[in-house]
Parts: sequence; structure tokens; C-alpha cells
Amino acid sequence: MIEKQHTIVIVGGVAGGASAATRARRMNEHAKIILLEKDEYVSFANCGLPYYIGDEITDRSRLLVATAAFLARRFRIDVRTRNEAIRIDRQRKTVEILDHAANRTYEQTYDKLVLSPGASPLIVPIDGVHATNVFTLRNVEDSDRIRAMVDSGNATRACVVGAGFIGLEMVEQLARRGLKVALAELQSQVLPPFDPEMVQPIVNQLRGHDVELHLGDGIDHITTDSHGTATGVALGSGTTIDADLVLLGLGVRPNTRLASEARLEIGTSGGIATNDHMQTSDPDIYAVGDAAEYCFGPTQQRQRVALAGPANRSGRLAGQHAATDRGDTMAPVLGTAIVRVFDQTVAMTGLSIKAAQAAGIAAESATVVAANHAGYYPGATPLRLKLVFDPSDGNVLGAQAVGHQGVDKRIDVIATAMAFGATVRDLAGLDLTYAPPFGAAKDPVHLVAFVACNHLDDIDKVVPADAVLDGCQVLDVRTTPEVERCKLAGAENIINIPLDDLRERIKELNPMAPTVVSCGVGLRAHNAARILRQNGFDRVQVLSGGTTVRNDAMAAKGQR
Ligand code: FAD
Repeated sequence: MIEKQHTIVIVGGVAGGASAATRARRMNEHAKIILLEKDEYVSFANCGLPYYIGDEITDRSRLLVATAAFLARRFRIDVRTRNEAIRIDRQRKTVEILDHAANRTYEQTYDKLVLSPGASPLIVPIDGVHATNVFTLRNVEDSDRIRAMVDSGNATRACVVGAGFIGLEMVEQLARRGLKVALAELQSQVLPPFDPEMVQPIVNQLRGHDVELHLGDGIDHITTDSHGTATGVALGSGTTIDADLVLLGLGVRPNTRLASEARLEIGTSGGIATNDHMQTSDPDIYAVGDAAEYCFGPTQQRQRVALAGPANRSGRLAGQHAATDRGDTMAPVLGTAIVRVFDQTVAMTGLSIKAAQAAGIAAESATVVAANHAGYYPGATPLRLKLVFDPSDGNVLGAQAVGHQGVDKRIDVIATAMAFGATVRDLAGLDLTYAPPFGAAKDPVHLVAFVACNHLDDIDKVVPADAVLDGCQVLDVRTTPEVERCKLAGAENIINIPLDDLRERIKELNPMAPTVVSCGVGLRAHNAARILRQNGFDRVQVLSGGTTVRNDAMAAKGQR
């Protein structure tokens, strides 16, 4: 039973920590709540920092969502900035704290302790990494430094290393500020969690905005001048990129030192192990946010997911539990994430095919390219949507989307359905909003689910966009001018019979041969495959996403 006046100490005052503190107060008016933050600011908008540097957010104060003074006044939270928790004594239930302002240490007792220390940007031990014009971006101070350099006009060329979410946001924002930007990434694609063909439109965007792209080429060292100022980045291949500003976006490392020194269990993914109430191996200590592990929905394994949504939600739950000893459990996390890169947006939830393969999980996929709203209504733009599912039961395992508009809506719809254990059939039956400016009577979510259902029901089998087509009879049912404009990549001896001529010319095809049908995006190929299947062709498959997605898949493999 919780004493009403017990003491809740929270380590880390931003996403998870501030959520825990305010929820704890709302649930327990009498608790003593202490929020420790080692830096200057609490409750700031980490996710807004790139947009402040890029001057899309012009007013710096807008980044400070809740100040220490506000949290004290409204929630009676004892906010101690520049106070760093340096040691936990679990037996005595105390935290040793370093007060940076007073330069002294002191002890604070707790009844419940919530750890939300976040993660730190990875910094590789290479030459030049400590130069003053080499940056990482995690907090307000980092963004102040980067913005000051951009504002000074002393930087005209930037090199961003790492093409993850933050790296791409920074590329966009630095380009927006007029810098010539280069982007280097060790992996052979941008946004490594995605399947390669789903991020090829992002590669095209980057190139279209004059970003110099180096994929499959990691950083070797940072070149410096005689004053120790960075002058550029040398890559593993020997290529050098000149830069006045270097931004490292190499990922993050969870801040688990406090927890591991207190002998709290660390999970297999390197985060602090937690249960569904976000309690650690010590039930009086909670861990939330980037430093903690959550249950990952598609695998049911516990792992780290360094995103703001889970950090806020887990903080809220831990705050309530710490304040009342009861509360809801943390729902499985799906890693739902989104980023805008110039005119394109790309998002995902759950498993990609690549992640499923790495985890040894049987998964298949369907991809469609459809208009974001009714094609006849002005302004429709193409949206590519890929659905990943379990072939044994149609359970939805993940989705990825890329396009100009409407990407967020589709991924959020699918993520919501996944939270309730949806199958592809459930998606096919969803009752979604429709009027021409907003969507289509058959939304892209329906279309991709229809393709998946047809595949599972053997009405129409799909093959992935990157499939090896050697030995197949490849039929392209686009019109001849379309074929001449854009050849299907990665296939030889392609037979071109436009869909509307297929019934007349069907004798030109070998019904016994394994046949793959393609078109622009997959719809005409589906119709063609149905004609063939009902005319004695038993081994027909449709190329998922047609030439559009195939060619991006081949380009991503460097085969186009
Ligand atoms: P944080 O919010 O980082 O807070 C941890 C705090 O703990 C820090 O302020 C740190 O100084 C403090 N601390 C650490 N150790 C101690 C200690 N010993 N004593 C006292 N204080 C301590 N996620 C998204 O979902 N969408 C986005 O668009 C997005 N954009 C991002 C953009 C940027 C530039 C960054 C950096 C992150 C972004 N994220 C985004 C990730 C998101 O911000 C994090 O997942 C989230 O902030 C994690 O919350 P947290 O509470 O675990 O850590």
C-alpha cells in the first residue's frame, strides 16, 4: 500500500521523466516528487530541434514545452536542473546526486525511483571527432551550437554522417538554410530499418535537392586543419568530403550506467530490463524511454525502441504506478516512425521484410502504388504502401509507406489495427473515411490488403519486387510506348503484350512456363494474371508494385 506522502525521485527531465512526474502528481497530490535533470532544461522538444536549426521553428522558446518554474507552480514538482544522479543505493533507497551549480554531492532518499536518462549519441573514437565544428544533436544546447554556426554564415558546406531519422531531418534542414550538404551512410541504403525499395524515392529526393550522397561508405576519420578545426570527412573508401560543419547521426547508446552499477538487470538488447508496468528487476525502480526495453509487438521480445511516443507513454504509466502502486500495463510497441525528407514522407510500423528475415520470422509482403486520394480529384499524388504479413495466418506484421501526402494516415491506420492483432482480412474490411479530397472508396490500405488476401487465397500470387526472374516467362502488359519509356529492370527476354490485347494474343505465351506478369504498378498485371490463370496457366505470379517498385528495388541493389 502506497503511503500518500512517499517520495518519488525521477532521473531525467525530458520525454519520459517529465511525463512520469506530471502523471504522478495528478494521481497523488500528496507525494513528494523530485525531478532530477543533469542539464539546464527540462521538458524540451527534442523532436523539434532540427526544425529550430532549420528555422522552420523560429521562436526558440517554443521548444521549451514546460519550464522548471511551470512544473513547480502547476504540479508542485521539485525540479532540480543541473543535478545529476550519480549512484543508486538500493539497500538504503538513496540516490547520490551531483549538484553541478554548487559543485557538491548530496543524498536523496526515495520510496520509488523512475529512471528516464535517455540515450547518448554514438561518438566513434576517430581522429578529428572532438573538433569544435563536429556536432551531435540531442539537446537544446547542441541545437544552440549548431544553429549559431549556421547563423554565423561561416559554414557553407555540411557533411551529415548517418542516414537515420535525425540525419535525414538535419540534411533537409541544413539544405533549407542554404548549405551544400553531403550525406554519408555505411549501409547501402538510407533509413536502414526500411526495405531498400521503399526508401529509393527518398534517395531520389536527396539527389533532386542536390545532396551529395555516399551510400555504403562509412566514416574513417575527420580531416582537420592546423588549428584542429574540422575541414571534412574521410570515408572508408578513401573519398573525402569537404565540410565546415560535420554532424554525426550514428545512432544512440542507452544511458544504463546508473542502472547497471546498481545491479539492475540489463536486457538482451542492452536496455534496462522492465516488466509491463515498466518496473525493473527492483520493483521500486522503474525505467522508461530510450534507456529501457519494451515488448516489441511483432516478435513479443523485449527490446529498445528509441522513440518519443513510447517514452512519453511509458513515463506516464510508470509515474502513475509509482504514485499509486497500480495502473495499466504498457502496450506492446511497434516502432511506428515517420520522417519528412523535402517533398516526400516515409513511415513504417512493425517489421520490414528485412527485419523479419534477420529475426528468422516467416513473412511475405504485398506492395501497391495508389493515389493518396481519388485520382480524379485535383492534386492526387502517388503513395507506395507495403504490407508485411505472416503467410500462415495473414497476421499483419508491419507496413511501410512513402509518398507526398497521406503517408502518416495509412501507417497509423495499420499500426492501430496491428495493436488489435489484425489480419490482412481485417484490413480489407476496415470502414475508413472517404470523400474525394481525402481518400478513395478503396483506400490504399484496402488495396494492399486485397493484394495480400488474393495472395493468401491463391487467387493471385505476388512475387516481391526484387525477385530473381531468371528462367521465368516475363510478361509486361503495359502499352508499347510505356515500355519504351521505361524498361522493366532486372529481367531478360520480356514479352510485351498490352493488357487489352492479351486475350487475342494469349497463344504467344507458353502456358507451362513459370510466368511473372508486370505492368506499371501491379493493377493491370493482376487483371492479366486472372485471365491467364483461367486459361490454363497454372504457374502465374504478379510482380508486386510493377515496374515502378521493381526498378527502385534494382536501383537500390545498384543493378539499374
Ligand atoms: P530524453 O528525452 O533524452 O531525456 C533524458 C534526459 O535525462 C536528458 O535530458 C538527460 O540530460 C537526462 N539525464 C541523463 N542521465 C541523467 C542523470 N544521471 N541524472 C539526471 N539527468 C540525467 N522520436 C520520435 O518518435 N519522433 C521524432 O520526430 C523524433 N525526433 C527526434 C529528434 C532529435 C534531434 C532527437 C535527439 C530525438 C528525436 N526523437 C524522436 C527521439 C525522442 O526524442 C526520444 O526517444 C525521447 O526523447 C526519449 O525520451 P527519454 O525520456 O528516454 O530521454
